[in-house]
Amino acid sequence: MSARTKIALITGGSRGLGKNSAIKTAQKGLDVIITYRSNKEEADATVKEIQALGQKAIAYQLDTRDTKSFDAFVKTVGDHLEENTGSRNIDYLVNNAGTALYAPIQDVTEEQLDDMVDIHFKGVFFLTQKFLPFINNEGGIINVSSGLARFALPGSSVYGSMKAAVDMLTKYQAKELGARRIKSNVVAPGAIETDFGGGRTRDDEHVNALVAGNTALGRAGVPDDIGGVVAFLCTEDARWINGQRIEASGGMFL
Ligand code: NDP
Repeated sequence: MSARTKIALITGGSRGLGKNSAIKTAQKGLDVIITYRSNKEEADATVKEIQALGQKAIAYQLDTRDTKSFDAFVKTVGDHLEENTGSRNIDYLVNNAGTALYAPIQDVTEEQLDDMVDIHFKGVFFLTQKFLPFINNEGGIINVSSGLARFALPGSSVYGSMKAAVDMLTKYQAKELGARRIKSNVVAPGAIETDFGGGRTRDDEHVNALVAGNTALGRAGVPDDIGGVVAFLCTEDARWINGQRIEASGGMFL
């Protein structure tokens, strides 16, 4: 009897690191559900790439700041899965969706701080909570954090602090879900060339050189440096990794 195909749900899979993670996870033989906030076309393109690999994929719109929409979202996903697999469950939840905020402490507004809390902590916390009954035992949670939770660069106080909160939340998830043999781990990228933050690591020569100069491997990261790490955590080979923060930064600010 062939093993059941596992399913990963990846938030923010339309672009950047989420897209790369979705494709690399499909290459490992998993079916993938992705979400996007507004870029339906790019989400559909990711779905097509995954389907071309022979795996099932579907994209749903979800604003991960909108906790009130989570019950309906979990139901929509569950209905779809039940119809197609006979079970409402996923195996892996990858909390990847996120946005940047670069602002010195004296300029941060309450609205900006609330937005960072909502997308990087509150949304991650409650989306995971809502999916808990629907993550198969022995599955996993992968939270995407940042190098900025370990080192401090001026202008990232709120963002870095929210990612640090996610690092700690991951340990609590690992402890509280251990009885169900569900693992929870962090993937913490260094600065990666995506659209993130207006694409500044990719497009601003000065920032790119600064990152490269402070990275042991001598360059800024690209999405291909990250997706495979997330995908690995969605496999049996990673089954004994739990409560860990895996930084994939090429050795940034060591
Ligand atoms: P991108 O800007 O390239 O992609 C962001 C993704 O998140 C898109 O799929 C976007 O959807 C989705 N998204 C944005 N806001 C929301 C929202 N409110 N609700 C739901 N989905 C949303 O960013 P990256 O791929 O670079 O970043 C992914 C994760 O990696 C983030 O958590 C980020 O903090 C983290 N990270 C990134 C680093 C980097 O240097 N790039 C470094 C360290 C961590 P849509 O396409 O519809 O807008």
